[in-house]
Amino acid sequence: MSQPDQTTHFGFRDVPLGDKQTLVNQVFHSVASRYDLMNDLMSMGLHRVWKDIMINTLNPPQSDAPFALLDVAGGTGDIAFRAAKASGAGFHATVCDINENMLNVGRERALLQHLDDRVSFVDGNAEALAFPDRSFDGYTIAFGIRNVPRIDLALKEAFRVLRPGGRFLCLEFSTVEVPGLDRLYDLFSFKVIPPLGRVVTGDAESYQYLVESIRRFPKPAAFADMIRAGGFSRVGWQMLSGGIVALHSGWRL
Ligand code: SAM
Repeated sequence: MSQPDQTTHFGFRDVPLGDKQTLVNQVFHSVASRYDLMNDLMSMGLHRVWKDIMINTLNPPQSDAPFALLDVAGGTGDIAFRAAKASGAGFHATVCDINENMLNVGRERALLQHLDDRVSFVDGNAEALAFPDRSFDGYTIAFGIRNVPRIDLALKEAFRVLRPGGRFLCLEFSTVEVPGLDRLYDLFSFKVIPPLGRVVTGDAESYQYLVESIRRFPKPAAFADMIRAGGFSRVGWQMLSGGIVALHSGWRL
């Protein structure tokens, strides 16, 4: 007897699990060239602060000691560039993303910033990484995991490619629970961001997906349970900017 198709969320829509990645890929294909500009406009520059907090928490060595970072769903390279600038000569970052359009923007940025020798770009899926076991000292994923159809597989892969003692860090939109700010945030999300997306990228629907997908993502305690189920220890999180974003952390021990 055939099993009914498994479903998942694409924003507020229920879609077959097998269709989500294609829909997500269309979103980032459409917005890639204006992705960085939209990040600045939508977050009023705050994404830079959140990303810097992630890099400070990662604390890569500033000496010549080797440190290999894997930045998954790394898109246009923002996390990798920030980490490279905060590190010593032993640092190397690999940006892995499923979308060639995003990676191509990242490659151009790396050349412009003279970081192409310290940051490399690889096409790949977070659910099935093409890297050997225990090959990285740090794994970061910023605003990416929410887009991955099978988050449990991505977390298991993160654990597999980290060396014992390696750190997992995930920056993701979370839940605003500050009275007053929650209503303002909802208003901004649903009334301002999609029209802004239309003006800047010509694509309001992709930004409608963005705000909806944030609302469907698990709350921090539930996501922390998923990180533990992936094998990680000493799992915790820190809320930033009233809960707009959470920085999740775990260790492979
Ligand atoms: N980390 C970057 C940043 O913070 O600016 C980019 C985040 S962007 C919102 C989400 C990225 O996730 C996109 O570049 C998209 O292509 C990527 N992505 C979606 N599904 C993925 C998957 N299964 N494996 C790897 N990357 C994926």
